[in-house]
Amino acid sequence: MSFAATVLTLYPAMFPGPLGMALAGRALGDKWTLDVRDIRDSATDRHRSVDDTPAGGGPGMVMRADVLARAIDSAGGAGPRLLMSPRGRPFDQTLARDLAAGPGVTIVCGRFEGVDERVIERRGLIEVSIGDYILSGGEIGALAVLDAVVRLLPGVMGNATSADEESFSDDLLEHPQYTRPAEWEGAPIPPVLMSGDHGKIAAWRRDARLRLTAARRPDLFERRIPGEPVR
Ligand code: SAH
Repeated sequence: MSFAATVLTLYPAMFPGPLGMALAGRALGDKWTLDVRDIRDSATDRHRSVDDTPAGGGPGMVMRADVLARAIDSAGGAGPRLLMSPRGRPFDQTLARDLAAGPGVTIVCGRFEGVDERVIERRGLIEVSIGDYILSGGEIGALAVLDAVVRLLPGVMGNATSADEESFSDDLLEHPQYTRPAEWEGAPIPPVLMSGDHGKIAAWRRDARLRLTAARRPDLFERRIPGEPVR
């Protein structure tokens, strides 16, 4: 059974976009499907309006609960319903893995100042953020979430082990990578990596991962080795 992604957006032409290429693109239609719905198709008035001015005043516009709910109800996608939102749960590899283990996901992309709170409550939307900055819409967030999820689906990534070794799979950042030429602009590849000694290589990589994580992401380092002094 393939993973069923549903996206609700005012800009359907943004999809599949980058998800139609490379790894995700090759798996599209086989390991996963993408149903993109135009929220505007659920508008009912003459002007096909999807937004209105904020109650209580203030700048900008707010997406209407009735129109959005109609779009959600008619889509009827599989899996949890997410709303891309800067005030949501920070998206991370754990959530990507949880979603990839399920039947699918429905992602609502906000625009303008956001969406009417009542539709979040009544349709059980789980707010998810892709970082502490404000985008102009949820579409780039939805693309990021789906990219991270799709590459974890069984059979999508060529080398199944590469997902286990990379950054965040065990709360450590990845070690530095090198490839030929063996020397470039006078800089050699660290000799241990050319030694063929797999035990030594594994130890070098492990040490590099620990040092990089301690230096760049003390929050991750502390989560992994509580109480360990950050070097
Ligand atoms: N007025 C809102 C921002 C609205 S931005 C506020 O101050 O919180 C418009 C839409 O872009 C949002 O509804 C959301 O769907 C999307 N968006 C913006 N930043 C985002 C982020 N960091 N993560 C996920 N979605 C985001």
